[in-house]
Amino acid sequence: MLSERQRLEALYSIAAALRRQDASAPAVLQTAVSLTASLLGIHHGGVVTFHKDDKTNDIFVLGENAGQPDTRRQVWYRLIAHGLVGYAHHARRTIVVRDISTDPRWPRLPETPFIPTQGSAVGVPLEKNGHMYGVLALIHPEVDFFDAGTVEMLEAIGDILSANIGNAIAFNTTPKDENRYQWLFEDAVVPIIITDLDGYIVDVNRKACEFLRYKRQDLLQLPITAIHRMGTGPVGVNRFESLQMGKEVEFKTAAWPSEGADIPVIVRARRLFFNDHDVIAWVEQDVSAQMELDQLRQDLAAMVYHDLRGPLHTIYGSLSTLSRLLASSGQKTILDLLDVGVRSTRQLSRMVESLLDIQRLEEGKAVLDPKPTSMHSLLANAAQLIQPMALESNQRLLFNLDGELPFVTVDADMILRVITNLLENAVKYTPMGGAIKLGAEAVEGSVRISVEDSGPGIPKHMQRQIFDKFSRVKYRDAPKGVGLGLAFCRLAVEAHGGQIWVESEPGQGSVFHFTLPATRQLETASA
Ligand code: ADP
Repeated sequence: MLSERQRLEALYSIAAALRRQDASAPAVLQTAVSLTASLLGIHHGGVVTFHKDDKTNDIFVLGENAGQPDTRRQVWYRLIAHGLVGYAHHARRTIVVRDISTDPRWPRLPETPFIPTQGSAVGVPLEKNGHMYGVLALIHPEVDFFDAGTVEMLEAIGDILSANIGNAIAFNTTPKDENRYQWLFEDAVVPIIITDLDGYIVDVNRKACEFLRYKRQDLLQLPITAIHRMGTGPVGVNRFESLQMGKEVEFKTAAWPSEGADIPVIVRARRLFFNDHDVIAWVEQDVSAQMELDQLRQDLAAMVYHDLRGPLHTIYGSLSTLSRLLASSGQKTILDLLDVGVRSTRQLSRMVESLLDIQRLEEGKAVLDPKPTSMHSLLANAAQLIQPMALESNQRLLFNLDGELPFVTVDADMILRVITNLLENAVKYTPMGGAIKLGAEAVEGSVRISVEDSGPGIPKHMQRQIFDKFSRVKYRDAPKGVGLGLAFCRLAVEAHGGQIWVESEPGQGSVFHFTLPATRQLETASA
């Protein structure tokens, strides 16, 4: 029997030998079985591995050359179906057969030179994280050979083996059909990383190595968090937990290659059942080119909007001067035309300003010019701007304003555009002859503005979405638009510390509300 020290040395040498192996299941298993057997002076035994559905996966027998292959297979299938291996597999614990000639757990076997008819045997389950990978079975011609110390050592070897073969079995199983699509993974044009459910890398394809500038073996066993940050999902959901629960996860982050700058990526990950194992597949899409293009597009757009501003101001100024000069000429048609020109130019200017603001606010920049401002004067201004448009549609503009409204500290031009946008939408969506109500009241440290229309209303599922860029409800005969007005309103109101929302029942009109924090008395007084 082995001494304590010999056992420890044996364990160490097996662990070291397995570490040197390339992670292929047959190599790991053959090494482990033959090392264990030679340490104990054993000539008979093997490892049986199982699929998740408990079907036999593979059998690795000691001294592969011994005996007829057919008889050998027959012996081992008996041990699996009616004997030691099957017992250890199903009971998920070590089974020791002290005497194989009398123990009922030892089946009748065909006479072969490679399995003794006398002696003892042991079956050690190979199990990790509740998954049974296989059973290590050893037979010795001596009765009662496997004492408590030897069994303990074999169980420790079993643990090392399970840790090593878990991944190896998953990715190197020999059956041809399971590897049939391996090249698809290996040659995929996108980087793909496979991890176990704890996030440790068990396989990577060629593209992932190129992309991350790592050698394959250096990536194996790293946690995925060494490649990129996981972050938390929307509303703080742990992305790992979502993945483990089978949800697909997609997020934008930066990947850390072994050298060079971070690479912006979109990561799409999903739990998969691959080669009999539960794994997570991570597809890393390099989006640096796309981001550069987006930035370029944004810069270009900002330049265009910025350059439109000047000429628009000039046109507006010229048209206003002309209409003043001709005011007393009595030429009504010309004055009306000029008026339309002035209003359209003003509308265009407002749009350009809002587009520039959207960009600034999306970049997280602060409101440019906040000053204590009278809410009454902003509302009056907005109503005046919208009145001609409402008149054209024969609509009435009604007011429901608190007599006393607190001041607000705002970029007046921006908030004026918010109210005008809401009023313009109300006019656009209210039928001819309808009414639009503009309301304002002081509520708990803030001012609440409401714009109510008698238009088609907004379906519930769109009531949040319409505040996103380019989001529009598909009505029949809907007025033209691009879906930027409400996105600007949301960004502007939120940048001022307020909130914006809509209440609406389809068919019964909509009420848009927004709040702005009221300015404290002191600030108003010093303004
Ligand atoms: P646009 O009017 O240019 O499309 P907005 O951002 O102002 O852009 O509005 C987004 C969408 O919200 C509109 O396309 C429309 O579908 C819906 N919407 C906005 N205001 C109203 C309203 N008062 N009544 C009904 N639908 C509206």
